Amino acid sequence: MTDGGRLKMKVIRGIPASGGVAIGRGFFLNRALSSYVQSAIPREKVEEEVAAFQRAVGRSKEQIRTIRDGVKDHSSEHHQILSVHLALLEDSMLVDQTLRLIRENQYKADWAFNKVLQNLLETFHRIEDQYLRERGHDLRQIGHRVLENLAGRPVDSISSIREPVIVIAHDLSPADTAQILKSPVLGFATDVGSRTSHTAITARTLGIPAVVGLEKVTDEYHEPEDVIIDGEEGIVVLRPTPETVREYQEKRKSYLLRVREMARYSRLPTVTRDGKTLRLHANIEFPEEADGALRSGAEGIGLYRTEFLFLNRKEIPTEEEHFQTYRRVVEKFAKRPVTIRTLDLGGDKFASQIELADEMNPAMGLRAIRFCLREKEVFKQQLRAILRASVYGDVRMMFPMISGLGELREAKAVVEEAKAELRKKKVAYNKEMPVGIMVEIPSAAMIADLLAREADFFSIGTNDLIQYALAIDRVNEHVSYLYEPLHPAVLRLIRRIVEGAQDARIPVSMCGEMAGEPLYSYVLLGLGLDELSMNAMSIPLVKRILRKSVSYEAKEFVGGLLKHGTAAEIGKILRKKLEDVFPEERF
Ligand code: PEP
Ligand code: MG
Repeated sequence: MTDGGRLKMKVIRGIPASGGVAIGRGFFLNRALSSYVQSAIPREKVEEEVAAFQRAVGRSKEQIRTIRDGVKDHSSEHHQILSVHLALLEDSMLVDQTLRLIRENQYKADWAFNKVLQNLLETFHRIEDQYLRERGHDLRQIGHRVLENLAGRPVDSISSIREPVIVIAHDLSPADTAQILKSPVLGFATDVGSRTSHTAITARTLGIPAVVGLEKVTDEYHEPEDVIIDGEEGIVVLRPTPETVREYQEKRKSYLLRVREMARYSRLPTVTRDGKTLRLHANIEFPEEADGALRSGAEGIGLYRTEFLFLNRKEIPTEEEHFQTYRRVVEKFAKRPVTIRTLDLGGDKFASQIELADEMNPAMGLRAIRFCLREKEVFKQQLRAILRASVYGDVRMMFPMISGLGELREAKAVVEEAKAELRKKKVAYNKEMPVGIMVEIPSAAMIADLLAREADFFSIGTNDLIQYALAIDRVNEHVSYLYEPLHPAVLRLIRRIVEGAQDARIPVSMCGEMAGEPLYSYVLLGLGLDELSMNAMSIPLVKRILRKSVSYEAKEFVGGLLKHGTAAEIGKILRKKLEDVFPEERF
């Protein structure tokens, strides 16, 4: 590797979009719009100019259609966005306004088109809603394609890449990312984007290291030069020194080892040495995460957080939108369970279009199930969609933030109303669909035995359970040192919930972050949990610990652990035990 001539090594921080390390030569994908000067054409040439413009639009459409038709999965986001791009080119605003400017003002086609495009981009730029603002990127990408075609220049294409490279771009269009699938692209870095932007999701789906939101990477990059991408840390190194390259080569090696090791575990069953079988499920927020969850060995979805359907948009999602989204996930998981949690807005989760009142204590305010019981029509829309999706697989419905029996009964009554509405319209749903609750408020834990008689299952939400039991705001960094999963009160609450469920013979799972932390796996096994739901990446790690454990030994150990008075003492004893039982593991 060279050090890129006279320019010095440069490290840029962005948003980590997809894990892994990539090292290689950069490939600059130019998507900038050139600047055009106003120029007029003689009247007799106007129709010629119109024809040239229409040819460029036609060619652009053809190119997009060819790329779209190469995407096999027609229901995929890629396919849909490329169809939107085609529709935008058919849209009268963009094309008709340009034609009008050419004919009426005798403008050259590139100037006319660029003028219309810039006006539209300006309008998009001013939109407050992030989702709609991002559609401006789509417009820019189409504009670039039409202008390049008009100039008779080949549109820079990822499909022309023959050597392994790292793509550097202002942004990638769906047309670009669709081609990455079939090209030797090692990774990519973009100026714009967020963790949930389309490019980031695609990178994770493809397993390609990527950093987005770098702001000025296209300005800093000078072709041709070497690039390093660290998708876990969100770092891009331009013109790395040989020493830095060596450092990242090591990092890449250890990352690949981890992935390989994990892949091995993802296919193995979760059985302890004494034969107890556990189920490991994944937590997801977006349907796009379903494939990764399956790859990591998830046997189901234990927590599907649906509030993300409500974020960054103008309108509340329609019942149809809810339904289509859930159905995609449910069908991917075939007969495996998918636990859909009903809307849990408020507290640390906000939506742009639902105005929640400013409250002194939002974590304890009108949120989650309380909000849904107040806004029954919003609630029922979601319930009907979940019920409709239930005929496509093993769907379970779960209510967040249940604090007592009254709320559970009220929520179940709304489910009955939703069912009656569907029956009236002769719409199918699974009459046996289990309806369970998150146990994440101490009052619910204390009456777990009573709730277990009326709920079909429990899922312990430790993120909130710890917050409420210890009175520690989960998003306040000043008290985070008190946020202790091993606090004896927390362990006792968990034990109580598990016992309540076991006595009533209903399943009990845990879906808070504690479930995906290998340090706690042995304790949770000992507490009697047999289902854990976590971020998909943690599944193989937790599985490795559980497969090396003996469940009755864990139970005996935890019995003793509960007698100790502080989280610090418990933590110390636990670490010592883990060192003895799993000397080869690092916690
Ligand atoms: C929890 O509270 O533990 C939980 C899983 O839900 P969330 O983090 O979405 O509040
Ligand atoms: Mg919660």
